[in-house]
Amino acid sequence: MTFSITIECYRILSIYFCLSVILSETTFPHYRSPGLEREKPLFCCNAAFILGSIAVFPLLKQSKCEKYRKQIKITESIHSSASLGHVTEEPMSAQRFGAGIWHFATYLDRYATDGYGAPRSVIEAIDLAGQVKDLSVVDINYPFFGGDFSNAQVKEALDRNKLGVIGITPEIYTREFVKGSFTNPDAGVRRRAHELVTEACDQVRYFGADYVKLWPGQDGWDYPFQVDYGTLWKHSLDGVGRLASENPDLKFVIEYKPREPRVRMSFGSVARTLLGIEKIGLPNVGILLDFGHAIMGGESAADSAQLAIDYGRLFGMDVNDNYRSWDDDLVAGSLHPIEIFEFFYVLRKNNWEGVWQLDQFPFREDSIATANHAIDFLKAAAKGLDALDVDALKEAQSRHDAISGLKIAQKALFGAM
Ligand code: FE
Ligand code: FE
Repeated sequence: MTFSITIECYRILSIYFCLSVILSETTFPHYRSPGLEREKPLFCCNAAFILGSIAVFPLLKQSKCEKYRKQIKITESIHSSASLGHVTEEPMSAQRFGAGIWHFATYLDRYATDGYGAPRSVIEAIDLAGQVKDLSVVDINYPFFGGDFSNAQVKEALDRNKLGVIGITPEIYTREFVKGSFTNPDAGVRRRAHELVTEACDQVRYFGADYVKLWPGQDGWDYPFQVDYGTLWKHSLDGVGRLASENPDLKFVIEYKPREPRVRMSFGSVARTLLGIEKIGLPNVGILLDFGHAIMGGESAADSAQLAIDYGRLFGMDVNDNYRSWDDDLVAGSLHPIEIFEFFYVLRKNNWEGVWQLDQFPFREDSIATANHAIDFLKAAAKGLDALDVDALKEAQSRHDAISGLKIAQKALFGAM
């Protein structure tokens, strides 16, 4: 930076002295002639600057090249990150569907403290997931719930149900981490979070999963004056950055969410999470965009997806639905079908080829029927994308014509159902 400012100053001064020589030689020859001796120091000074600028010219060129080289590097890094997020030049292949394994578990809340059903183990949950039509992969919590199972036992259950693993979600949001995982005020607890995620990294390698999913749900605050925001954000980035640099062979996805369980979460929006990821500056950290988290945070999920794709950081996604005030995790498409359809349109428009993954919590519903119903909707949405008159839509969008755009999208989606 300082170097380029020096060069720029040198260039301006050189131009000034060149002009002064030319002017004194041509426009005002009489001015120099009578007192050549007196003008000698100025003439020498001018000559020195002209020679100097000739010498500086290659450096100047080199400095400009460096600048462009840096720009090219940034562009290349964005493109290589984009490939991590499955953005390709090719049209989409057959769509794969996945689900968080917790979709098939049973739940507690602060009212039904005895649970909404008998407890299930991860093995039982996998066996239920295996009964869903067209489910290819699951995201598995680590440590495994409902018993002390070995990797081999879990693998055996997955194999008999013909399921792969897309991600491992280390439980950095349980009792031990109620005051935060990466941002816990106790350095010992932060270290423990690091160790737990490091163990999850080995699970990702064992199961050949796509990524470690980071959901730091307890990293945040509840009250004004509770935390120092700068320290909290620094700890968030240090925690993720250290893991990503120690495990360059793996991808890490941050699933942002505005609130719950913390009233304010550190990674709370697409923009904040992207800012953090860019600050970390490593190619193996990306976003898992949960449609429900985006809309409960007041975002347009389609716009959030485009932003994350533009920065080469959309590594994964979840779908579900909610009434926008809370993370209800209802069936995908049950409340906001046209918005979720636009979200899928943006993914296809960018040739984003990741798994369409369910993150639903069927508290009172049958988990298999709920997953099947959601996947039927997702398939209809995929058919709707095939039927979409993309040229007409682009033409309508070029004029920001809301009604024409909506008509085209509604005809495609509802016609496919
Ligand atoms: Fe999710
Ligand atoms: Fe959620």
